[in-house]
Amino acid sequence: MSPAEAYRKEHEVTATGDNVPGPFIRFEDTGFPPEILREIHSAGFSTPTPIQAQTWPIALQSRDIVAIAKTGSGKTLGYLIPAFMLLRQRRNNPLKGPTVLVLAPTRELATQIQEEVIKFGRSSRVSCTCLYGGAPKANQLKELDRGADIVVATPGRLNDILEMKKIEFGQVSLLVLDEADRMLDMGFEPQIRKIVNEIPPRRQTLMYTATWPKEVRKIAADLLVNPVQVNIGSVD
Ligand code: ADP
Ligand code: MG
Repeated sequence: MSPAEAYRKEHEVTATGDNVPGPFIRFEDTGFPPEILREIHSAGFSTPTPIQAQTWPIALQSRDIVAIAKTGSGKTLGYLIPAFMLLRQRRNNPLKGPTVLVLAPTRELATQIQEEVIKFGRSSRVSCTCLYGGAPKANQLKELDRGADIVVATPGRLNDILEMKKIEFGQVSLLVLDEADRMLDMGFEPQIRKIVNEIPPRRQTLMYTATWPKEVRKIAADLLVNPVQVNIGSVD
């Protein structure tokens, strides 16, 4: 058995798709710049979680991924570090709109994601704005005007801001749907579809979900192109 196969077996990783690269078993395998590795080490992390190990090499090939893994499995850094790597190589003008868009179901989650960006994205010098409902739009719009490489948003508020023509998606090249199953349960599918229609089709899309019911399979089939499917553990 190859080390990749042994790792997948031990950690219950299934990866389905064309020529799936082997997992980055150790942080040293990732090729991330030393500053990022230092940020990870100072957080006290010793090895990538299985979802990180298996999705990082695929995400770095600019491929679409649907990842099915329970909460607490380290999905946030699973997509944020590839986002930082993209931003390091492609410095778009944040005043013309974000390069990375992350959709998440709730204000709490969106805020937590922004906190991870602040904690781990320092050396990559990425700017980030968070857009969510239940708070006045004015401050969020002001922040947007200052420019953000990464926008983290709930679908409802982002769709409002989109309808006001206050955000431009022409530069978005990485779209992340975090907790896709929860966003659909909350009834956000129409807003998600409207938002995605504004994003250039030549993008990378990463979708994360804890469960794999038919509604999630349907939206994955519609929004992702030839994705690699990565499961950790058994699928509900
Ligand atoms: P999920 O989105 O899958 O629920 P999170 O991304 O919120 O999981 O991560 C859960 C916790 O694990 C967070 O506190 C995060 O900082 C931590 N974490 C992330 N990556 C690692 C790692 N490689 N080793 C140890 N802890 C990690
Ligand atoms: Mg999460």
